[in-house]
Amino acid sequence: MSAPALRFDQPRARPGAFLPYGRQLIEEDDIAAVVEALRGDLLTTGPFVERFEAGLAKAVGAEHAVVCSNGTAALHMAARALNLGPGSKVIVPAITFLATASAPHMNGAEIVFADVDPQTGLMRAEDLKAAFARAGRADAVFNVHLNGQCGDIEAIAKIARLNGARIVEDACHAIGTGFVAEDGSLTQIGDNAFSDLTVFSFHPVKTIAMGEGGAVTTNDPELAARLMRARNHGMTRKPDDFANVEDAFDADGTPNPWYYELVEPEFNWRANDIQCALGLSQLGKLGRFVTRRRALAAGYDALLAPLAPIARPTARTRASLPAWHLYAARIDFERAGISRATVMRELAKDGIGSQVHYFPVHRQPYYAKRYGAQTLPGADRYYDQCLSLPLFASMSLDDVERVTSALANILGY
Ligand SMILES: *Cc1c(COP(=O)(O)O)cnc(C)c1O
Repeated sequence: MSAPALRFDQPRARPGAFLPYGRQLIEEDDIAAVVEALRGDLLTTGPFVERFEAGLAKAVGAEHAVVCSNGTAALHMAARALNLGPGSKVIVPAITFLATASAPHMNGAEIVFADVDPQTGLMRAEDLKAAFARAGRADAVFNVHLNGQCGDIEAIAKIARLNGARIVEDACHAIGTGFVAEDGSLTQIGDNAFSDLTVFSFHPVKTIAMGEGGAVTTNDPELAARLMRARNHGMTRKPDDFANVEDAFDADGTPNPWYYELVEPEFNWRANDIQCALGLSQLGKLGRFVTRRRALAAGYDALLAPLAPIARPTARTRASLPAWHLYAARIDFERAGISRATVMRELAKDGIGSQVHYFPVHRQPYYAKRYGAQTLPGADRYYDQCLSLPLFASMSLDDVERVTSALANILGY
């Protein structure tokens, strides 16, 4: 039997259609999976939650996966599980989505922003060292696999451990990404080979979609139990955990059937069965989606190369096997004599979406006011040049050509 061809059930993938910078690919079997969940007995905390968690843990090579309502909730649960609250400091690279910093900060931690590589937007070992030197100490590092690529997570983890800090990987861009360690071994992002926890998002623009959804993976059973409580009101129903023996058990020591116990108050960050049915169905397509994204990224690499030095392909790191959530072209707008906003508006006129990932978080007025103005030159430089071009699983190489030729025109080639 030959390998199944890519199916494009989405009419939006037709030639000439508007190309957003990212979008989901929902097929008939995804729809059928959701319908099955809707027909089930439980709309939430039902069989699809556990099936998705088991599937995700297996797919990324982790012992435990705890699914939740979105990636931000997953980051918050990570902060809760590692006790990153008032008095804690967390190092976060300046080029990321707001949530990487907001989630631990909302739990009471203060954020120390690290600089990044101006070419890749990824935090480097030296950036982390500088952040530790500035912070004095930090309790955790939230490393970000920007665009689906990873930097030297092994070196970063080593520095974090030497400084007594826990490691969380924000892998919201990076499901399906691999990393080749110093000893040549291949690790999967999510297997926590170098970290305590890894966080994913399954927002529709990410590589697989749940509508809204997220997860945390870990190999530590205690952290897994802590994450489960962080997801569900801080409750436990495990008799071994009960402190209040008198109310929890009857006279012969049998747990009372109604009893649950509050360990510590938490929010409700659960994902429901409808979301998890979609997540599970999409997870089965991860390999196909990643293959497609890699082929499209290779297409961009080839077609952007001749536009150098004004526009250049995304910069690659040494040891990463990226799953490419985003394709970030690097454009020297100054040299091209055209503003980024104009390029984006002109692309939009040609039916092409684009986006900037991201405005450096340390420059957000909230943080600039809280921590004072800081200069992180790598982050500034990356931000000045990045432009995310359309990349999603139902695109074709013809679409990539359409994007790059429109871009070449706008840049004056
Ligand atoms: C998408 C994203 C998040 C947040 O995920 P949501 O599911 O949208 O809450 C966090 N960090 C990064 C890097 C992201 O891209």
